[in-house]
Amino acid sequence: MKVKLYSVKMYRKCLIFLVFYILVAYIAVNGTEFDYEHQSKWYDDFRQCSFNRQSPIELNSNEAVISYDLPSLKFIHYDVPYQKAVRSENNGHTANIQLPTARLDSAYIVGGPLLNGTTYIMESLHFHWGSIDTHGSEHVLDSERYSMEMHLLHRNTKYATVEEAREHEDGLAVLAVLYAVNATVTEDFVGLNEVINVLESISEFNRSTEIDNFLLSVLLGDMDVDEFYTYAGSLTTPPCSQAVTWVVFSHPITITPSQMERFRRLSDGHGATLENNYRALQAKGNRSVVLRQKRRVLESSVQSALYWELLNKLKPQGELVANDGK
Ligand SMILES: [Zn+2]
Repeated sequence: MKVKLYSVKMYRKCLIFLVFYILVAYIAVNGTEFDYEHQSKWYDDFRQCSFNRQSPIELNSNEAVISYDLPSLKFIHYDVPYQKAVRSENNGHTANIQLPTARLDSAYIVGGPLLNGTTYIMESLHFHWGSIDTHGSEHVLDSERYSMEMHLLHRNTKYATVEEAREHEDGLAVLAVLYAVNATVTEDFVGLNEVINVLESISEFNRSTEIDNFLLSVLLGDMDVDEFYTYAGSLTTPPCSQAVTWVVFSHPITITPSQMERFRRLSDGHGATLENNYRALQAKGNRSVVLRQKRRVLESSVQSALYWELLNKLKPQGELVANDGK
């Protein structure tokens, strides 16, 4: 009988422990859950979401500080295919692609607005999109909200993990690429197809697949990477860590309606269509936004007119060349 009593006690102990464990696990999972329909709830659940260095913000070329002198960004190993297959998954909020960082030829960025001597290694990329083509991007450029926005998340290599890096204001650098759907364009932007081709395999929440020979450079195509907005901001999803140096390229990439449609076939953790996964605009406050631009070469017609004018001045009298302004 004594043995039996002991077993009952043990059984009760185990049961209490199990209930406690399930409760802790439930809080751990659901306490970090968020959805885009109840963004105001983020402020209650994640302290930093209500702070004053949040993203996304509206970017305006008239208000930005124009810089011709900011160094350009350097993309290292962006043109080297990943030897190991990379993992793509539907995490209920987006299609996320996780890149290995252990390899010697891992992709990274330097230069641009990043502090001299710091290296930001490529960690992962994901997308934000809408239910229709007129919205979907997180950043708004000169009052225009684009159809989709890709985020390339980089970690400052002085921190060991993204979790550690996001606790520091220089921890992360995110490059944002905007996509504009053009209904009259029939030719795909082929660079995006290495991602689009696996979307069907991850259409449901928690599904994942692998992509062989993943290449980052094709995602940027021939976009002008020398012109971009940059400012200090945050992650646009909870915990909204204020650790991000943002680089938002000012020239969007054109994609076809059918390419965009493939993203809207994903479903979220509740079986609903995964769409409108973008955060509302946040207050810019007194932050400065810099717009890096290249010095413009004079328009060819103006250049030509000036050329003839100069030539006429150099010619001896009587040998004037006609300046027709062409
Ligand atoms: Zn994002």
